[in-house]
Amino acid sequence: MKKSVNHPTFSSRNCTACWKCIEACPKKAIRKVGFLWHRHAIPLYARCIGCNLCVKACPQGCFKAGNG
Ligand code: SF4
Ligand code: SF4
Repeated sequence: MKKSVNHPTFSSRNCTACWKCIEACPKKAIRKVGFLWHRHAIPLYARCIGCNLCVKACPQGCFKAGNG
C-alpha cells in the first residue's frame, strides 16, 4: 500500500484507556480495544491524516509523531 500520510507510531504498552486521543482525533481514526485484561486505544491508519493531535493529547506518550 502506498504510504502517503506520515502517521504517528503507536504503542499500547502504557495506554491507560483514558480515551483522550479518541476525543482529540478529528478523523475518528482511533478505536477502543476492550479485552478484560487490557483495554487500550488502537489507531486506524487508513483514516489517519497525520495531524498529530493524538500525540499531543496522550498523557502517556503512546503516540510518537512520524518523521517529515
Ligand atoms: S494523527 Fe490525527 S488523524 Fe491520525 S490518529 Fe492521530 S489525531 Fe487521528
Ligand atoms: S490518550 Fe493515550 S493513554 Fe489515553 S487512551 Fe489514548 S493512547 Fe491510551
